[in-house]
Amino acid sequence: MDYRHRFIDERPCDLPVGKVVCVGRNYLAHIRELGNEVPAQPVLFMKPSTALVGLERPIRLPTHGRECHHELELAVLIGQRLSGVEAAVVAGAIAGYALAIDLTLRDVQAELKAKGQPWELAKAFDGACPISPFVPPEALPEPQRADLRLRVNGRVRQQGNTGQMMRGIDELIAYISQVFTLLPGDVVLTGTSEGVAALRAGDRLELELDGRFRFSAEVA
Ligand code: ZN
Repeated sequence: MDYRHRFIDERPCDLPVGKVVCVGRNYLAHIRELGNEVPAQPVLFMKPSTALVGLERPIRLPTHGRECHHELELAVLIGQRLSGVEAAVVAGAIAGYALAIDLTLRDVQAELKAKGQPWELAKAFDGACPISPFVPPEALPEPQRADLRLRVNGRVRQQGNTGQMMRGIDELIAYISQVFTLLPGDVVLTGTSEGVAALRAGDRLELELDGRFRFSAEVA
């Protein structure tokens, strides 16, 4: 894997590529569509750095499952070490925002859930986190009021706003930092809104952040 973090203006990013910490069930409408319970605490899981892949590469669907769902999420690039911090300091440690797809083998996840087993096979495989270049924080001054939109083959599949998060970005990252130290170059995925569905070979994806930043991708 030769993934490197980069910014939308092709400005290089000197942050190393770290882990990806993700939250499940952070948007009510998505919790309802999968029939899940509203969690008392954030549902956290991780993807290794080998899950990250640039959106410019064709998305490769894994072969150890049948239904690989897209989950469009706001991704946050961590710029400073965060350990046991308060929410108030989080904003100053953010190095950028991107759109990521939390690829999820839904059929595999359903089997793992039924057996009470961890989710890595469904969510942490190689290439499980296609991600756009990062928008610098100054270019997205209100990250908690940003529209997220995913079109697949020209049709809107997912449409949400970061204002619909049950736990906002700063609170979520502060919570994560109580358990997992976040290092410069780590990425946090903030959960998906509703509309998750399976991707198929040849699908063309258009991702849009805040109605201003557009990225395209294709399924191999
Ligand atoms: Zn997700």
